[in-house]
Amino acid sequence: MHNPLLREFDTPFGTVPFEEIKTEHFLPALKEAIQRGLAEIQAICDETSPADFDNTIFALEEAGVLVSRIAEIFFNLNSAETSEEIQMLARDFSPLLSEYRNDVILNPRLFARVKEAYEGIDASKLDKESQMLLEKTYKSFQRNGAFLAEDEQKRLRAIDQQLAQLSLQFGENVLAETNRYELFLNESQIEGLPDYAKEAAAEEAKAKGEEGKFLISLQAPSYIPFMTYAKDRALRKELLLAYGSKAFKGDEYDNQQTIQQIVKLRHERAALLGYKSHADYILSERMARNPEEVGQFLDKLEEIAFPAAKSELADLEAYAQQKDGISKLERWDLGFYQEQLKQERFQIDDNKLKPYFELNQVISGAFAVAEKLYGIQFEERSDIQKYHEDVTTYEVKNGDGSHLAIFYADFFPRAGKRNGAWMTSYRSQKKTSQSDQRPHISIVCNFTKPGKSSPSLLTFNEVLTLFHEFGHALHGILADGHYASLSGTNVYWDFVELPSQIMENWCYQKECLDLFAKHYQSEESLPAEWVEKLKASATFMEGYATMRQLSFAKLDMAWHSGLPSHDTVAEQEESVFAPMALFPSMVETNMSCSFSHIFQGGYSAGYYSYKWAEVLDADAFELFLERGLFDADTAHDFRSLLAAGGSEHPSVIYKRFRGKDPDPKALLRRAGLITEHG
Ligand SMILES: [Zn+2]
Repeated sequence: MHNPLLREFDTPFGTVPFEEIKTEHFLPALKEAIQRGLAEIQAICDETSPADFDNTIFALEEAGVLVSRIAEIFFNLNSAETSEEIQMLARDFSPLLSEYRNDVILNPRLFARVKEAYEGIDASKLDKESQMLLEKTYKSFQRNGAFLAEDEQKRLRAIDQQLAQLSLQFGENVLAETNRYELFLNESQIEGLPDYAKEAAAEEAKAKGEEGKFLISLQAPSYIPFMTYAKDRALRKELLLAYGSKAFKGDEYDNQQTIQQIVKLRHERAALLGYKSHADYILSERMARNPEEVGQFLDKLEEIAFPAAKSELADLEAYAQQKDGISKLERWDLGFYQEQLKQERFQIDDNKLKPYFELNQVISGAFAVAEKLYGIQFEERSDIQKYHEDVTTYEVKNGDGSHLAIFYADFFPRAGKRNGAWMTSYRSQKKTSQSDQRPHISIVCNFTKPGKSSPSLLTFNEVLTLFHEFGHALHGILADGHYASLSGTNVYWDFVELPSQIMENWCYQKECLDLFAKHYQSEESLPAEWVEKLKASATFMEGYATMRQLSFAKLDMAWHSGLPSHDTVAEQEESVFAPMALFPSMVETNMSCSFSHIFQGGYSAGYYSYKWAEVLDADAFELFLERGLFDADTAHDFRSLLAAGGSEHPSVIYKRFRGKDPDPKALLRRAGLITEHG
């Protein structure tokens, strides 16, 4: 059959021939690729000579390359340019892929070969990257229970099934609780709300047959504006209590039992696999190696953030007192007065800033930053096939003109694209002594499309988003590893946001903004005092914000570092929150019962990584601040960090760049919470 997905891509740079690929090509191609992948696995098992690095570890790394390529193209399209047919197809794709992956990872003959190689190879004779691949391959079997006796493997599968069911249940309860709350108000009760929020609330009420009223719900687009702008203090309290008591009312949607079961099963699962706790299991493949390291990290931040938060809240209370005679600032006052104080202090808004951030100028700005740092250039190409006419394609070249990567940029929303912004790739980077396969990287965003007479003008947040995703893209573009599975963004989960977040720092620097932030009509540069205000407003009440994140991170660790030390969900939670409380606790509310990140999504024993990544980028950026925003040596060293991908443990790679371990205080310095060094 003539299926372009199964052929070598006969296109410039071997890019994906989007124009030839039809939706009906995907499924037959995937099935064929899976057959070939399984045959490659079989060949590894059938090998009669002793298992070694090349015939087992490297052969396994290369097995199923075609499966990965087809899956990558398919899921990238499903996110960026989907259709009903593609969505239907996804239902066949996902089970086929997980079955294939199980056939590989649960294959006992394959594991026997991997084990033989792992035990037989003198790792000290391998280079660092190959050592990492050996270790990672072996561990992936171990972490899936390849070591266990048959009945234990059975138990593991049963636990996994139960856990999948329970997280689903957890999420459904939170959703049901969110959806069933309705607060119908009249016009005088929603005083303070901006027009867009009023209009939305009126629409919602009308849809429910209550024309003339305003419906406030627990959905973020309704709840957040209400807590930020509504003047009615008693209603803010009512809404906060409703929000905080989701799935904690002892009825059929209550999540307390669900939580107890989830943490017990996660603990049992970790113990089966030989780990002390679920957190130990998770963190053994993270830059923060174990629960103790995470605990110390969080404590260090808390030491500074706690007093800072207290004084910020005292300031805010004084402000509320002077403004409205509020004698005691409560939780439900926080968002409201914070917003007002912020407006008073900074007086910058998106409408004033947007004319300085015309999309094409911002893109050129990002390219200019990359060129100044790494000497690389982006050249638009017209001969590369794309999946939608809005996509722009570039060839990225080194300073000496040699080819580095292909870069796809896809910026505007359309029906078939999901929300948000992300970076992905159509071909990964890898090399052998004979060949160097360069990567094909893409970033996808949802910025406002230019109109007939007006260009696309970005908000400052969108500028940050563009630089963030561009940072991920550079991680991919500059990758220089031997093995695809360790190359580019294939790094530990708490390290992957460093390359992206660090790029956002340049957006607050006058020297960098002067490269591109010019008024699209008058061409004048963004005024210096606005840059200062941008910086200051970004860290407004940072002490409080930090404490909030720390309390969630600590709650997460408390649930996963062993079996719970208290009987009830409320007691367990209170034992974490009490020592760091900034407001009196409220018995009606409970965070754990709607903490979807850790009980539904993939953040269990991982919530700390938000702050962890911020510390890394603040600490790394300090070196640029010290030596110069575009200092050649520092940029050279950072490029090495990017090029290394996941070839070694991230703390080793980081220390090589920075000369020391990351310093949590760098984040507090950037936030203006401390000034001293050391
Ligand atoms: Zn990111």
